[in-house]
Amino acid sequence: MNPRRPGPATSAFADRAESSAVDDSKPCPCRRGEVFAECCGPLLAGRPAPSAEALMRSRFTAFAVGDTGYLRRSWYPGTRPDRLDLDSDRRWLFLEIHAVTGGGPFEQSGTVEFTAHYRDPDGRGRLHEISRFTRVDGAWCYVDGDIAG
Ligand SMILES: [Zn+2]
Repeated sequence: MNPRRPGPATSAFADRAESSAVDDSKPCPCRRGEVFAECCGPLLAGRPAPSAEALMRSRFTAFAVGDTGYLRRSWYPGTRPDRLDLDSDRRWLFLEIHAVTGGGPFEQSGTVEFTAHYRDPDGRGRLHEISRFTRVDGAWCYVDGDIAG
């Protein structure tokens, strides 16, 4: 028994068996500067993303905490993989948003250019991508992306 492990049922998200526990009062993994409960937490729990950028952030957070269910739910059905296995050796550290086009409340599509930083057994790395987003029944979802630079 690891004494550093948080106690059971202290989080509203404790029943998401597939994902790591995230403390609601800890800084959100996307590093927007809010605590998890005020940032990506509600989106992972089912609240619609208000913008493509917010969905991008919540998907990074889902990668960081291993929430494959959320990643599949927020993926455009036409490009969603049948199976999604995350690399358990890769730890997602933080996200930088560089540029956003569209993706707002009155738009149907948008792009987000970002760099996601990670660490794996080979050291630190980064993924620089321009992702495309669209709405399905009003809800933002990830379509696909191009590796940049
Ligand atoms: Zn966040």
